[in-house]
Amino acid sequence: MKNIMFIAPPAAGKGTQADLVSAKYAIPHISTGDILREKAKEDSEIGNYVKETQASGQLVKDDITLQLLKERLAKDDCKNGFVIEGFPRSLDQAYEYDKVLKKLGYDIGKIIYINIDKKTLEKRITGRRVCEDCNATYNINDKDNSPEVESVCDNCGGKLYQRSDDNLESFNTRFQMYTEKTEPIIDHYRKQNVLVEVDGDDTVENIFKKIDKIINE
Ligand code: AMP
Repeated sequence: MKNIMFIAPPAAGKGTQADLVSAKYAIPHISTGDILREKAKEDSEIGNYVKETQASGQLVKDDITLQLLKERLAKDDCKNGFVIEGFPRSLDQAYEYDKVLKKLGYDIGKIIYINIDKKTLEKRITGRRVCEDCNATYNINDKDNSPEVESVCDNCGGKLYQRSDDNLESFNTRFQMYTEKTEPIIDHYRKQNVLVEVDGDDTVENIFKKIDKIINE
C-alpha cells in the first residue's frame, strides 16, 4: 500500500506532483480543494458557502471538509493507496486524519513537504490554469509547464480556467492561513519521522524525480 501526502504552501505545485504520482502508481489523487470546488458548484446553502470561502482564501469549516474527505477515503479505490494533498491544513485536521486512518485501517505512509519561498509563489500564482474536466494544472508563465494550445488541456482537450482564488489578494490570505495553521503540522509529522522535505524551486520534472526517489526509498 502506498499512501502519500503532500504538504506545501499554496501554488507550490502539490496538485501537479500528486497527478504525476497518481498516474505512475495508479492510485487516486485526493485533493480537498478539488472536492470542495465540486461542492461549490451545487446550488445549495453549503455550495454557496464553500464557493465564497474558497474565493476569499479562508479555510472551509472542518465539519464540511472532514465529512467529504471521509466519504472519499472510504471508497474502494483507496484500498491500495492514495495520494492526498490540501489536507490536513491545521493541527486539528491532522488529529482528525489520524483517527480516520485508524478507523479505515490505513497507514499514514510518506509525507512529502515541498518547501518554497513566498516571492517565487507570487510570481506563479497569476499564471496557473486548471482543466475544468480533469483538473490537470498548467502554468502559462512557465514554458516547461504550459499547455500546447492556449486554454486547452493537453490531457483531455478540456477547457482551461483561472481559479477564483488565484489573485494576489486571495493568495496573501491563503499564504497567511498556511503560515498560521498549516506550518505547525510539519513539526507534528517530523517528530513521527514520516516527513521528507523537497526543494520546490525547480522544474516539475526534477521535483518529480526527487519525489519518486523518496517514494521508493
Ligand atoms: P487548494 O486547492 O488546496 O489550494 O484549496 C483551495 C481552497 O479550498 C482553500 O483556500 C480553502 O478555501 C479550501 N480548502 C481546501 N482544502 C481545505 C481543508 N483541508 N480545510 C479547509 N479548507 C480547505
